[in-house]
Amino acid sequence: MVSRIIPVECFDLVIFGGTGDLARRKILPGLFRRFLGGQMPENARIIGAARSNLDDAEYRDMVAGAITEFGGAEAKDTECLSRFLKQLHYVQVDARGTDGWADLAGLMKPDVIRAFYFSVGPGLFGDLAERLHLHKIADAQSRIVVEKPFGRDLETARALNETLALHFDEQQIYRIDHYLGKETVQNLMAVRFGNVLFEPLWNNHYVDHIQITVAETVGVGGRGGYYDKSGAMRDMVQNHLMQLLCLIAMEPPSMFEADAVRDEKLKVIRALQPVDYHQIVRGQYNATDKTQNYRDDAENPRSHTESFVALKCHINNWRWAGVPFYMRTGKRLKARNSEISVVFKDLGHSIFEGDEARHRNILTIRLQPNEGIDLQVTIKEPGPGGMRLVDVPLDMTFADALGPDADGGSDAYERLIMDVIRGNQTLFMRGDEVEAAWSWTDPIINGWQERNDVPKEYDTGSSGPEDSLMLLHRDGRRWHEIKA
Ligand code: NAD
Repeated sequence: MVSRIIPVECFDLVIFGGTGDLARRKILPGLFRRFLGGQMPENARIIGAARSNLDDAEYRDMVAGAITEFGGAEAKDTECLSRFLKQLHYVQVDARGTDGWADLAGLMKPDVIRAFYFSVGPGLFGDLAERLHLHKIADAQSRIVVEKPFGRDLETARALNETLALHFDEQQIYRIDHYLGKETVQNLMAVRFGNVLFEPLWNNHYVDHIQITVAETVGVGGRGGYYDKSGAMRDMVQNHLMQLLCLIAMEPPSMFEADAVRDEKLKVIRALQPVDYHQIVRGQYNATDKTQNYRDDAENPRSHTESFVALKCHINNWRWAGVPFYMRTGKRLKARNSEISVVFKDLGHSIFEGDEARHRNILTIRLQPNEGIDLQVTIKEPGPGGMRLVDVPLDMTFADALGPDADGGSDAYERLIMDVIRGNQTLFMRGDEVEAAWSWTDPIINGWQERNDVPKEYDTGSSGPEDSLMLLHRDGRRWHEIKA
């Protein structure tokens, strides 16, 4: 039985940075899809707020252009688009000054949910929080949505948490990690905690190891300046990969509720063993074709920033003692492929004579492409010739199993924004989680700096540096192939 969609109440959503790249590519097209899905009440409003001098009509034109460019097939519904645009407004504000704040205050409706999306650089988060309060635009029911990066180390993340806490309670702060809005990531929890089958096996008695791969084919071109100060560890591992690790490894929460889930995730991060630097491989993409060199993309010919990281870590608790977790992420790899594989242990004893092959059950959760889940099982190879065994996947590609519109064609951002309006923080990071994640990654990054570590080069279109393959080979294991 399918449960019903939870409706949202009327809201005013202010997008600071409403003319920026993220708003144009993700937030506004996503909100249009929610409008098409009947999830945006008629009197709900979206208010763009940014530095550009625009009126409502000019902003609506800009948004129409963005939706046409990034909105996919749905954008062709021009009649719906023009109805959606009527719910949009624009205010010119200066996050650091006084301009525009009285206009914004005057525009807000009383008695509706107020949400403020900080889609601006992190240097402005504190200014926005302060001014929302100063001008009495935010009330106790208001919510703020904060984009990544949430700090660049423990110290800056802590300072940011303290600044936001001056004006907002933790229950009002939604730190967004769009990975948690992905259908498959949520399905990971549904599979683990909605079936009797997996949880009894989800421990060091049955699991040999776990792999998490987030591979991208794109480079850093276009955001080279930003990325070069960040690198894969800060940009991907500290947030997205660690969130995936938490969901895979956490204990069952007592209920699917924000703090119950986040308490369990936090315990995982706190139980992470510090990683020895021999267990980490850093890489930087390189190719004879100059356009594909990291250093050219980053515009720093001597950059030592990593565009790839692979590491092995352990979680110090009863459930996972002795089970390695291997994580890797990188840019300009051979395919865009994100997945988590839970590799179960070998059978203790095979009853099938002549079957020397190693048969393993592997549960793979595919985040992209072809979102879905498959379970590798061993069966008899069909036909005569005796009892020969073969491994085949029990495949549940969501689009095949539930139809192409199984999730209404929605994207992670729009699902998470609707959760903000509903007041559901389950899929958002809590301040202490973010700080704990930095506490674990900081020593790794600091160690690289102290040793003046130089990343290993890897070929564009490869699976990363050779050393990352060795990380598993040394343990008698191998990575799942990165394939589209
Ligand atoms: P952007 O540079 O394209 O847009 C910045 C926006 O902020 C513009 O609308 C600009 O008018 C507004 N702005 C800048 N200074 C301002 C000021 N003083 N007062 C009021 N408004 C001001 O940036 P972006 O790519 O849209 O990124 C926004 C945030 O989202 C950043 O924190 C970024 O790290 C994060 N983010 C972006 C992406 C992405 O794909 N673009 C992905 C993840 C996270």
